[in-house]
Amino acid sequence: MLKKLPELIDPVVFADRESHVVGGLDISCLSRLTDTLFSTEGQLDVDLQFYRDAQVPKIEGSIKGNLKLICQSCLGAMDMAINKSVKIGMIKSMEQADRFEEGLEPLLVTGEKIALAEIVEDEILIDLPDYPRHGDSCEYYQKSEAFVESKRITQEEPANPFAVLAQLKKSGDQ
Ligand SMILES: [Zn+2]
Repeated sequence: MLKKLPELIDPVVFADRESHVVGGLDISCLSRLTDTLFSTEGQLDVDLQFYRDAQVPKIEGSIKGNLKLICQSCLGAMDMAINKSVKIGMIKSMEQADRFEEGLEPLLVTGEKIALAEIVEDEILIDLPDYPRHGDSCEYYQKSEAFVESKRITQEEPANPFAVLAQLKKSGDQ
């Protein structure tokens, strides 16, 4: 079990103090991800260094771990490895973000405390696919009724002209 992280933080104060935040964040804390997750068990390994660089408060570090997403083909569990480099610059207005160097994510700070989980969540959401799917290797899908059904229909297709004939014959009998 990793060290527990602080829940609410003032990121600017953390930057001034050059705080180094290291620990485990419960995946169940990532509330906006709940609908896309197959399981909310486990933790993410969070390592964030807060600091000031040329007057801009920044956060740099990493988020690592594994998420169990829901495959949109089979609704089964799908592992997604998280190995995210974090580079955040804090801003007081969105215009400031336009002047940011490339690869620096803006974080709007208002002077109020922010949930650390939310910062982590924002970073994860950037990389999350809209429709997570196993792809061709989706064995769950291949075993699923929908897949078997689609195979069956494809195989029966050549028989369809006879079905049409039978139908015609039937209506002719009337
Ligand atoms: Zn699947």
